[in-house]
Amino acid sequence: MKPTELEDRYGARNYAPLDIVIERAEGVWVWDIEGRRYLDCLAAYSAVNQGHCHPRIVDALIRQSRKVAVTSRAFHNAELGAFFREVCELTGYERALPMNTGAEAVETAIKLARKWAYTRKGVEPGKAEILAFGNNFHGRTTTIVGFSSEPQYRDGFGPFAPGFELLPFGDGAAARAAVGPNTAAVLVEPIQGEGGIIVPPDGFLAELRDVCSERNVLLIADEIQSGLGRTGKMFAHEHDGIRPDVMLLGKALSGGLYPVSVVVADAEIMDVFRPGDHGSTYGGNPVGAAVARAALAVLQEEGLVENSARLGEYALRRLRGIEAPQVREVRGRGLWIGIELVESAGGARSYCEQLATHGLLCKETHDHVIRFAPPLVIEREDLDWALDRIERVLTG
Ligand SMILES: *Cc1c(COP(=O)(O)O)cnc(C)c1O
Repeated sequence: MKPTELEDRYGARNYAPLDIVIERAEGVWVWDIEGRRYLDCLAAYSAVNQGHCHPRIVDALIRQSRKVAVTSRAFHNAELGAFFREVCELTGYERALPMNTGAEAVETAIKLARKWAYTRKGVEPGKAEILAFGNNFHGRTTTIVGFSSEPQYRDGFGPFAPGFELLPFGDGAAARAAVGPNTAAVLVEPIQGEGGIIVPPDGFLAELRDVCSERNVLLIADEIQSGLGRTGKMFAHEHDGIRPDVMLLGKALSGGLYPVSVVVADAEIMDVFRPGDHGSTYGGNPVGAAVARAALAVLQEEGLVENSARLGEYALRRLRGIEAPQVREVRGRGLWIGIELVESAGGARSYCEQLATHGLLCKETHDHVIRFAPPLVIEREDLDWALDRIERVLTG
């Protein structure tokens, strides 16, 4: 059987991938089993900001795997402390808590915020509330999908955990009005990624910051997709000049090699966790720590944040210059661009299929948005190659 047939025959049916079977990858390029080459403009939802199979990160993975891979946190391991220091120095927080997937980091932040609310803020047991936003994406666990506004993410998976309220994304006044004495935290994506690359109005995050500071509420920034250079800053909240109380990183934290996520916060918040309160068998393992250290070093030493800012601005300008009646809006920051099509264009998926035949891998989000998010190692020449093809498909 062909690989696709094997997947169909034996795999659960929770995905509907494009009909391309990737066999290997390097930098911004991937090759299918027939040897056809594609420019990867999804970058595994920003997990491969550093480019596929970056030699330095691969090397860290192999070297650490040969020494010791998993210890569990019943013991110390020789890589973890250095990872903590590096991620704290990069983010400017005092403490780091490592997990594996992004959803686990979100779950960790929810537990952290609730425990903080009960032990520091004095919220009555069982009453803590977390405010989040419509059109959010924070992962796929039952607690998280319980406060999704996307019907397909929720339908059939209840009952859900109580204690969450959704507000309109971009509306600072609504957030101000919704905060009450039991509010533990506001959980926000600085730019909504899966929601369609939605950049909130100027001042929105600053207003959230003000409300949270005034009312003693934690501001949690989910930077799992927006962080680590994707938007042309190391962290997307820097565009707004604010500092969240808690920040979540994942995806590119391990450069696409191995799942590593982290929650960072200052000690006065993070120290509500005591030994035994929370954990993960693989969280903080030496391979993950070594891979994340290499991934962060590559981001910084190769100037990928600057590249994202510079080429992102260029790409945005070129895409906005395309005259095509089916384009409603081109928006984004850094190398994170959404091309929203009008309803009558018939959905973004068929455009992504066409782009694939031209050698470009893209993935639609929210039916009508073509998302453009190549690895941040992309060079101007390859970017032009991609933009030429997008222009051809949009105007063809
Ligand atoms: C991808 C993503 C997550 C979930 O990460 P997983 O590793 O898939 O669990 C959470 N939040 C945001 C903003 C994401 O983009």
